[in-house]
Amino acid sequence: LMSGVNEIRSTFLDYFRKEGHEVVASSPLVPRNDPTLMFTNAGMVQFKNVFTGLEKRPYSRATTAQKSVRAGGKHNDLDNVGYTARHLTFFEMLGNFSFGDYFKERAIELAWNLITKEFGLNKDKLLVTVYHTDDEAAGFWKKIAGFSDDRIIRIPTSDNFWAMGDTGPCGPCSEIFIDRGEHIWGGPPGTPEEDGDRFLEFWNLVFMQYEQVTKEERIDLPRPSIDTGMGLERMASILQGVESVFETDLFRHLIDAASSALGRGPDADTVGSYRVIADHLRSSCFLVADGVLPSNEGRGYVLRRIMRRAMRHAQLLGANEPLMWKLVPALVREMAQAYPELGRGEALITETLKLEETRFRKTLARGLGLLSDATETLGAGDMLDGETAFRLYDTYGFPLDLTQDALRQRSISVDLAGFTDAMERQKAEARKSWAGSGDAATETVWFAVREKTGATEFLGYETEQAEGLI
Ligand code: ATP
Ligand code: MG
Ligand code: MG
Ligand code: MG
Repeated sequence: LMSGVNEIRSTFLDYFRKEGHEVVASSPLVPRNDPTLMFTNAGMVQFKNVFTGLEKRPYSRATTAQKSVRAGGKHNDLDNVGYTARHLTFFEMLGNFSFGDYFKERAIELAWNLITKEFGLNKDKLLVTVYHTDDEAAGFWKKIAGFSDDRIIRIPTSDNFWAMGDTGPCGPCSEIFIDRGEHIWGGPPGTPEEDGDRFLEFWNLVFMQYEQVTKEERIDLPRPSIDTGMGLERMASILQGVESVFETDLFRHLIDAASSALGRGPDADTVGSYRVIADHLRSSCFLVADGVLPSNEGRGYVLRRIMRRAMRHAQLLGANEPLMWKLVPALVREMAQAYPELGRGEALITETLKLEETRFRKTLARGLGLLSDATETLGAGDMLDGETAFRLYDTYGFPLDLTQDALRQRSISVDLAGFTDAMERQKAEARKSWAGSGDAATETVWFAVREKTGATEFLGYETEQAEGLI
């Protein structure tokens, strides 16, 4: 397949290699030396210190295909998966980077030549956004792409202004969109309908030209830099002429594997579940390959939430035994050539998925039974009481977002305040039953152990760290 995911990845990297860029390997999903970030969520993460000048590399241009996860943390697309045509929890971000080398004009020119010449996109279907004050970028788009003003949309919000954190490098960005036709709902960026899928954003070019020194003071960087990110799966959906990332070659193969394991394929009612399973399979396997294991806190709890959400969808599809581990070979077939860690980790990944699903299946069906009883009389706009949501969490191992996801289709929400109250009450009661021992040190240890080992499943939400990256 000329426009298969694997071919698109190599076309991108080859193109920038020929343009003098060093091809650099993807960094792991768990960022090195960066406790502020849950998972690597963009190509620039591994180059953060190169952009600030803290670290020197023997090259000033680089290109990567970067494994990225946007679940948990600041960029959380978990709730979008299965509901939009373009969001995944795990995706590959293709990028080119200039560390004080070329800047805005050349970056736009390189991008334009790649998408129109190498990838052959139809110029008449493309449009771009720029930051509202960035006349320079607007001018280059006009000159290089020949765009009229109505195809250069000026956006005044932070969507088109990128910053590494409260201080540090920052600058305007320019996003490239494709119009996929009137039969798909959605409006161009900057309109109230922009959350639809007609206008698909597929590439973001960041022009790092300032340094925020303090809250008030911003100076020009002496050597401005470039950071770009293109969603590989989104480009594949464009080049393959399909309407969502889930219909591209790679996802079709994963969904086929799920269909043969289940003995039935997707239909209009079940297709969403197959999509969630295929996406969550990728994020789960890649996270385990990079050393994350399901647990009750932090990164491990985000992984557990992803895995259990997938398992509920497998249950919906009628799986009567653990499913996810059976799909690992299909993923290895699709992606281990580009990411050898998948092949190396295959045994561990398979065991981890099998064990987690075997354990969760013991309480999953009973929990779903309880949930269906508790919501029997509820309808759209109603709320599930916090007590029941907490019981599902505490006794049946349902992460809160799994319960919310299960009720979303029926437009039922969860009473979050009630949920928190129930949790606080349980903690207080557990503490009270220890009162009188007079041994504060033992008590503290007991709580630490109890919360770690999962008699209570610890809320991942409470341990998420602040993040300052795109
Ligand atoms: P969106 O507005 O669609 O959520 P974004 O503006 O959050 O995307 P960026 O942070 O600009 O995305 O990331 C650069 C590129 O990475 C995007 O243009 C897109 O092609 C891709 N991308 C971002 N998030 C996802 C995702 N959840 N799944 C697949 N691709 C993604
Ligand atoms: Mg986003
Ligand atoms: Mg966007
Ligand atoms: Mg963007």
